[in-house]
Amino acid sequence: MKKNIPNRTKKVLNKLFDAAENPSQLFLSDGERMKALYKMIGAKAAGWQKPVSCMYRGCSKPSIAKSHTIQRSGPISQLLEDGHVVTPRFLDGELKIKSIGASDASTFPGFCSEHEAIFRPFETTSTISTREHVDLQAFRTICREIRRKRYDIQHQESLLADLAARLEDMGNREASRRKIEFQSVTVNGGAFGRLKEAIERGKQVIDRLENLYNLHFDAIDKQSETQLAGYVAQINIAFPVALSGIIEHHAKSGNISTWIAGVIPQGGGTLMCGLFSDRDCARKVLQLCANRIL
Ligand SMILES: [Zn+2]
Repeated sequence: MKKNIPNRTKKVLNKLFDAAENPSQLFLSDGERMKALYKMIGAKAAGWQKPVSCMYRGCSKPSIAKSHTIQRSGPISQLLEDGHVVTPRFLDGELKIKSIGASDASTFPGFCSEHEAIFRPFETTSTISTREHVDLQAFRTICREIRRKRYDIQHQESLLADLAARLEDMGNREASRRKIEFQSVTVNGGAFGRLKEAIERGKQVIDRLENLYNLHFDAIDKQSETQLAGYVAQINIAFPVALSGIIEHHAKSGNISTWIAGVIPQGGGTLMCGLFSDRDCARKVLQLCANRIL
């Protein structure tokens, strides 16, 4: 059934559709938009170091402000220049390389003081030299990625809520200007739809990360070995980077493998490690690396 929509209603709808496709129209001026953007970036940067609930299973104590994803005494100290390292940071709306103090490098609030102490055995040594060290490093990396992803989603959700409120305001404003009764608006497509999809994808990444956490946790709780499969190798080439993070590999078949990768300079060389949720994936990645090198 085709309804005749009055022209003035069409104008309001078109305005709302345009804004849903291009949310910059939801701000009254470029100045207001930039102000909102800077406020959001500032709040995100400041909130990252705020305490959360401890990420050790079964513990709900507040986390202490800083946990190092890569221990400070070893790998980071090798990269220091005048007490600083460089790290990627989101600044003024752009990704920039920033020089920061070693005490701030690679930190996140993840554990209460009691559980932060479990990292002490390898935090105080300058090398990752035992199975226990590798397990602890992997655990901290998984926790950091879960925390980071949850934090990103939290901010994407508040951005979505802010844009939805602005769209609602615009609907009210435009409708009252044209003397039309306006109740509410819900948008599924356009920039709103893309943001909702990004949030949904982020939640799926968290599910995969939590799977890694569950497969690995017993190794930390000392009940059994990790159920993750992988490799650890010390090579005699010193790379000038220290990283420990998660790689998501999207295969053409649609399968997604999530694994932990570490490149950590130590002892004049570099420790390389990869830990996977299943042996099949570990074998395939090792084969791929070997083929590229040979
Ligand atoms: Zn705790």
